Amino acid sequence: DSSDEEGEEYLFKVVIIGDSAVGKSNLLSRYSRNEFNLHSKATIGVEFQTQTMEFDGKEVKAQIWDTAGQERFRAVTSAYYRGTLGALVVYDITRRTTFDSVTRWLQELKTHSDTTVAKMLVGNKKDLANIRNVSVEEGAKLAEEEGLFFTETSALDSTNVNKAFEFVIGEIYNNVR
Ligand code: GDP
Ligand code: MG
Repeated sequence: DSSDEEGEEYLFKVVIIGDSAVGKSNLLSRYSRNEFNLHSKATIGVEFQTQTMEFDGKEVKAQIWDTAGQERFRAVTSAYYRGTLGALVVYDITRRTTFDSVTRWLQELKTHSDTTVAKMLVGNKKDLANIRNVSVEEGAKLAEEEGLFFTETSALDSTNVNKAFEFVIGEIYNNVR
């Protein structure tokens, strides 16, 4: 929404939400720095990463916010959601409880946002499909019911990670232009 007359620049805020340990921080580090950490701990202090890309020759900056582990205490603040135009709602395909939490995260997002938010449901840890507890069909069904886009990703082997972020950012661009 921050377009200036000359450069037509856009700044979009995107949040990553979902239960603890589903891979939110690794999805962001994979996307922004192509890094993965097997023993990642809650990052203290790092609030967001900025990625720049182009749509129709226009510069788009995506400010992607990661929780600092507050989700463990169910205490993600309204400041985290303020001004959000896009969201990745993440669960872990090997842990059903994280899938069951998705509707609560969507409700929280809705409570804190006053504009259209481009949302993608992300089933992460696709590399662990041999021990999955949530089927692709269940993910797709929930996404359809809630009106979300859907994909399964692996922050470990990079599958669909860039696609997921770029899709959400592209949807925001379509919503605002
Ligand atoms: P967060 O609490 O949601 O930010 O989750 P993290 O990014 O800290 O990841 C939690 C744990 O899951 C860490 O041990 C990661 O190495 C692991 N992890 C994250 N993404 C993946 C993935 O795609 N595949 C596998 N196998 N492990 C992952
Ligand atoms: Mg984290």
